[in-house]
Amino acid sequence: MNKKHYKFLDLKDVNAPLSNEINDAVSRVVNSGRYIGGPEVQNFEKILAETVGGGVEATGVSNGLDALRLIFRAYIEMGEMKPGDEVIVPANTYIASILAVTDNGLKPVFVEPDIRTLNLDTSLIEKHISPRTRAILTVHLYGRTCYDSTMQQTADKYGLKIVEDNAQAIGAGYSDRRQTGALGNAAAFSFYPTKNIGALGDAGAVTSRDSRLISTVKALANYGSDYRYHNIYQGLNCRLDPIQAAVLSCKLPYLADECKRRTLLASIYEKYINNPLVSKPLYTAHNDMVWHQYVIMTPHRQDLRTYLLENGVETEVHYPTPPHRQPCMREYSDLNLPVTDRIAREVVSLPISACTSADDAVEIAKIINNFSK
Ligand SMILES: *Cc1c(COP(=O)(O)O)cnc(C)c1O
Repeated sequence: MNKKHYKFLDLKDVNAPLSNEINDAVSRVVNSGRYIGGPEVQNFEKILAETVGGGVEATGVSNGLDALRLIFRAYIEMGEMKPGDEVIVPANTYIASILAVTDNGLKPVFVEPDIRTLNLDTSLIEKHISPRTRAILTVHLYGRTCYDSTMQQTADKYGLKIVEDNAQAIGAGYSDRRQTGALGNAAAFSFYPTKNIGALGDAGAVTSRDSRLISTVKALANYGSDYRYHNIYQGLNCRLDPIQAAVLSCKLPYLADECKRRTLLASIYEKYINNPLVSKPLYTAHNDMVWHQYVIMTPHRQDLRTYLLENGVETEVHYPTPPHRQPCMREYSDLNLPVTDRIAREVVSLPISACTSADDAVEIAKIINNFSK
């Protein structure tokens, strides 16, 4: 019998269903003669703001890291923060979240995750606050909203900005009426090709209800120029290309379908995976999870991954080394973050991309259930 192979992700498969629309969008830009800025970018910004809701404005930028860097840089230019100030960050995150803080001369203050959600434990924020704390960087990791009344009340009590790293959670909710990207004071989006909505290259965006923040980000991303040949900041070049904006404008209307597809696969894993050696991610009936990754945990990670691959199932690890253990973050290597370390040792991401069908998910669950020590 020819054993089936379950790919973790193949970006060609992700874009294939929309290839006609995407090709039309690319041709439109090629034929327009407008390759920087212009109507394609403006149109994308408009539909992104509408999608996020909550009265936000959106501005396209070059990628997710730049989106985050520009938010902090804008707060510095606006006089809200200065180098040396502290930002509360989740210890369990992708390193880009932290790089945006350190790149601006701000100091990350690492806070442990809640082992149930793998996101920042909001009950631990307050005891990490000092007179220099200016912001909470919340990361909606793996697609799960990380925001609650404890976070908001702590931010209000100490006058802190809440900055959202929404690279992984576009479309996720908090209660019925609010979405990630409209929960804090400003939010960064990534449209890296592997994200739930991905471009054909690098792309990102910033959303905020604060139009001064948005106009500062826009200027900073365009050499610091507020109007042509007039520079109020020593800025950068972090613009979104119209070709990526056009591609994203044809993918964004399918966001709800993409969230539904991922939720269906997650619900199958939740229902069928039943192995005492494996713990499943928290599963709720709310809209607070868009399943960017379906992350199980096991103390037998290497054995499980080898077994799964032998049975045709590709997996990934997000992420094997936490930021404070990276060589570039040596000054934080003495921190005692046992929950973060345990997560880095035990997490395994299962296939949940467009390559995976509902039947595949049932089969993958059965294969996992046959894993033994
Ligand atoms: C992908 C990602 C980023 C960086 O986005 P890029 O577009 O790759 O620069 C930042 N934070 C998180 C949590 C991410 O997953």
